[in-house]
Amino acid sequence: MAKEVLDCSFCGRKKAETNLLIAGNSAHICDHCIEQAHGIVLQEHKDDQNTNANSDFLLKKPKDIKAFLDDYVIGQDQTKKVMSVAVYNHYKRLLQPESEEAIEIQKSNIIIVGQTGTGKTLVAKTIAKMLNVPLAIVDATVLTEAGYVGEDVESILTRLLQAADYDVEKAQNGIVFIDEIDKIARKSDNPSITRDVSGEGVQQALLKLLEGTVVNVPPKGGRKHPDQKFVEVNTEHILFIAGGAFDGIERHIAKRLNFQAMGFSASKEQSDQQEEVLQFVTPKDLKNFGLIPEIIGRLPVLTYMKPLDEVALRAILTQPKNAIIKQYQKLFEMDGIALTFTDDALDYIVEKAVDYQLGARGLRSLCETILTDDMFDLPGTDAASLVIDLDYVSTHLSATALSKLRAAS
Ligand code: ADP
Repeated sequence: MAKEVLDCSFCGRKKAETNLLIAGNSAHICDHCIEQAHGIVLQEHKDDQNTNANSDFLLKKPKDIKAFLDDYVIGQDQTKKVMSVAVYNHYKRLLQPESEEAIEIQKSNIIIVGQTGTGKTLVAKTIAKMLNVPLAIVDATVLTEAGYVGEDVESILTRLLQAADYDVEKAQNGIVFIDEIDKIARKSDNPSITRDVSGEGVQQALLKLLEGTVVNVPPKGGRKHPDQKFVEVNTEHILFIAGGAFDGIERHIAKRLNFQAMGFSASKEQSDQQEEVLQFVTPKDLKNFGLIPEIIGRLPVLTYMKPLDEVALRAILTQPKNAIIKQYQKLFEMDGIALTFTDDALDYIVEKAVDYQLGARGLRSLCETILTDDMFDLPGTDAASLVIDLDYVSTHLSATALSKLRAAS
């Protein structure tokens, strides 16, 4: 009987030409074909995911976006509303079919004015989470004009590529949050007196990114790897969100509004005043602060964050989906311990956060200080519950501990 010659039923390779030939029901498949088939399966899966992502998105109306934000971000209703609309419009723009007559919809890049720790980054993160798109958070203060010490603006896109696991397509639909945009403002209202070239230079460099352009991006970051191949990234569909504290902008706004005449009383709490004035912020105030008009034009959605008051801080402790207290409860639960806080203990924590100007970020450090001993001592014991009451909190938050937190914030 002639010896049977086996070959791959898909590509026809002889057994000897393969590393592996697997037998099935009256057919064989070689390792090359398996790999190729696997590639096809992955690609199909990815395409499916992309289609689903788009159709998912189509379902998310501004109200749904806002509802999602409500789960994570306390207060800031006006901003959440404005941003829900901006995000909706941005992604509608992406889904617009390409046609010559199509009305060109301008990008809905966003700029948020508000003190640090009021939730600007959190909003950007939450939106990225909801849309399942990559997010790069960059600090404008490290950016410089090309040729100067510091990072070129292209480094922003390197970060985004990294966040997208180097999937260019994903990166091109991602979100970039540029923090501290106010720090690259021109230092003087009057450019002819002290021309601050560096800040303005960075603003100029940012312009083309914001508007939409194809940038050659060093995937590993700029100058340390001079030999790497550049990757082309088109920024046309990237949503840019800029944030900044714009310290002192209230003065510009108040001056413009002639607030004194409107009864802007010097006796009011400072945060109340800020809140009142900030809501009137306009692009003109940003210009007076030192942003160049072209940048302002490319960040057409302008909104503001209210300073957080005691009520907001108290809510931040317990209400968001991943609220700080819920996180600690989860940690203790994993050791079989039910952790509870009494209301007056929570009030005390908030009170200290306000007294020591620790803001929302300080709430976590306060809880950490209060719970460190027990997080050290209790695991491995037979403790089944821990109640944190006012007495407990006040003994664990000594004046020295609080001063340390203040100094560190
Ligand atoms: P910003 O970007 O304005 O400086 P962040 O978004 O980084 O502030 O806020 C710091 C932290 O404070 C957040 O991670 C979050 O835990 C908390 N936080 C701040 N503002 C809010 C808010 N409005 N709702 C819920 N948590 C908030």
